[in-house]
Amino acid sequence: MKMYNFNSGPAVLPAEVLQQASEAIIDFNNIGLSILEIGHRTEWFINVLEEARSLVKELMQLDDSYEVLYLQGGATMQFMQVPMNLLDENETAAYCDNGIWGSKAIKEAKLFGQVHIACSSKDQGHTYIPRELSVPQHARYLHYTTNNTVEGTQWHFIPEANVPLVADMSSDIFSREMPFSKYALIYAGAQKNAGAAGTTIVVIKKDILGKVNRTIPSILNYSNHIEAKSLLNTPPVFAVYVSLLTLRWIKQEGGLAEMERRAQERADLFYHTLDTLDAFTGKVDKRDRSLMNATFTTQNPGHEKLFLDICKEHGMVGVKGHRSVGGLRVSMYNSLPLSSVQALCDVMKDFNEKRG
Ligand code: PMP
Repeated sequence: MKMYNFNSGPAVLPAEVLQQASEAIIDFNNIGLSILEIGHRTEWFINVLEEARSLVKELMQLDDSYEVLYLQGGATMQFMQVPMNLLDENETAAYCDNGIWGSKAIKEAKLFGQVHIACSSKDQGHTYIPRELSVPQHARYLHYTTNNTVEGTQWHFIPEANVPLVADMSSDIFSREMPFSKYALIYAGAQKNAGAAGTTIVVIKKDILGKVNRTIPSILNYSNHIEAKSLLNTPPVFAVYVSLLTLRWIKQEGGLAEMERRAQERADLFYHTLDTLDAFTGKVDKRDRSLMNATFTTQNPGHEKLFLDICKEHGMVGVKGHRSVGGLRVSMYNSLPLSSVQALCDVMKDFNEKRG
């Protein structure tokens, strides 16, 4: 029996994508070789990579002043690769401190230059998105995490700044329409909304590069990857292929407008249920609730394990909160069917009736 998958990433993927990916492992496009066996410089793979790169641009409606890279090292590597490429030692970058992942990005940036904290929600355990930002005019860029996967908050507006915007969109990329051309650099691990684990999408406005004085190791230099059309070394061929299949699926289903409509529908159902049940409480400010990762707790702390056991009995995985914050969390990425959320809500209602 297929489980209800509320994992935070790697996460649920469309059934069609899994089917196509599994067929390609046996025989890729009927060429008589597995996708795992083809050379990364063959026309077969170059076509995969080029289609994936151009689909990213198409979905984000970006022009040719942007380049799309499929890199390795996870979003975590971008925490250091961004400042290494964009920030000199004596320069300042502004960072929003709104959760665990943003804090990690700040820690790495400090290795390369000066960090100015533009806003922080630390005072209240990162349960809200601040409205006031301070961004020095001379800041090289402003970095923020559009969706805080662990804490369950999401920016529903774009921070105002007169400096280039850099965003970690790991957990809400391709889940909504946005004016992506407002960003100078966007990065996201593929393993939530854009495919399987093993590759990271980096979207760069080319004119922000080439301005730092330090010597950047070749493999970490964005310009080298751009020049090599994202084929500087052997890329994670299969992960890029699964990402391509996922992007094709997004486009075919109706693009980002449709992904956004579904995300809203799932989140409305979940949060409405949460708010009507005494046995559960949400963890973050309502206006800043994430449409992707909903965090909550049982009203009675002693009931948490019991609730998790019941979820498990119903074939529901990924309901436990991140190990750093505890509590409960359900992730509702692009391909999570509304019926999965409905099933979870039914379990919650039943739990409420019996123990609320
Ligand atoms: N940023 C955010 C917002 C994330 O959710 C995650 C992973 N959950 C990361 C960064 C780190 O990604 P990776 O494990 O791919 O390095």
